[in-house]
Amino acid sequence: MKVTDHIKEKDTIISFEILPPLKGKTINSIYDHLDPLMEFKPAFINVTYHRSEQVFKKKADGTFDKVEVRKRPGTVGICAAIMNHYQVDAVPHLICGGFSKQETENALIDLDFLGIDNVLIIRGDAAKNETLFEPEPDGHRYATDLLKQVINLNNGIYLEEDIRDGSKTKFCIGVAGYPEKHFEAPNLQTDLSFLKAKVDAGADYVTTQMFFDNKKYFAFVKACKEKGINVPIIPGLKPITTKKQLSVLPRTFHVDIPTELSNEILKCKEDKDVEIVGTEWLLMQSKELKKAGVPILHYYTLGKPHVIVNTVKQIV
Ligand code: FAD
Repeated sequence: MKVTDHIKEKDTIISFEILPPLKGKTINSIYDHLDPLMEFKPAFINVTYHRSEQVFKKKADGTFDKVEVRKRPGTVGICAAIMNHYQVDAVPHLICGGFSKQETENALIDLDFLGIDNVLIIRGDAAKNETLFEPEPDGHRYATDLLKQVINLNNGIYLEEDIRDGSKTKFCIGVAGYPEKHFEAPNLQTDLSFLKAKVDAGADYVTTQMFFDNKKYFAFVKACKEKGINVPIIPGLKPITTKKQLSVLPRTFHVDIPTELSNEILKCKEDKDVEIVGTEWLLMQSKELKKAGVPILHYYTLGKPHVIVNTVKQIV
């Protein structure tokens, strides 16, 4: 079932996002992570995509080999396993980085054959050895371009022009939005114009970057409406559970942490106290967003399912 159909069916629903496990682990690590969350009957589960990175491996003679390593493969397989194991919809993330257009088309055909009819389309970040994002020679530079390829496939248009009467896929397409602006965008209005371009090209909904101040989400939704972006905007929520995250989250995700929250965290002696503060904050955010009638509460679970369990059980 499509994300947009889930939204139509019920008021504020719950969904989760997970990461593929590190290479070498089994699918059971995913089930162990998700089992405690399934009592809340999530409408769908997103699975992130992680491109390969170049690392230098030292050889016996002291010189180095440059090798491509994908630390977290398996997004498509995990989605299929989740749908089969839990009978719940899975939403794979698909990125521009590292993909040629042909590889993208083949990945979309795999998803279609597996009965997966949702995708979250994003650009991906620059590779670790690059300062700015660089597409593959025959890849997409922006999420909008990748989105247009998915829309083409939804209309039966394949890269090979001689495919006539090609089967039409039925992907429901989500894209990323940034209440605190994407870090490369010169300003919020420019960023919103590009978000509108994604929606005008056919995106069905927007999922936001995490935020810790609901005012920023509400202001973003208002600004989107003023810009003519009228698709559902799903808030992405993440708990803070360690003191280290006070600097890691702003550096990695370019988000602010409200003073009230950071002051409370700085008072904590140990991370178990931070987890209590972070859980209370997440609960406060969730309750307020639910009251405001958001379509979905989407939780980034990243290795802390018990924190999400403790929060969600108080709001469903
Ligand atoms: P785009 O929409 O392409 O925008 C990138 C930048 O370019 C923005 O600054 C935008 O304003 C600008 N821009 C857009 N179009 C144009 C244009 N035509 N001309 C000039 N400038 C333009 N990363 C992963 O690697 N894997 C994941 O699974 C993943 N999941 C995510 C899920 C969510 C909900 C979010 C919010 C982010 C996720 N990311 C993921 C991170 C994402 O890949 C990065 O934030 C990336 O830097 C931008 O992706 P985007 O799709 O927003 O890019």
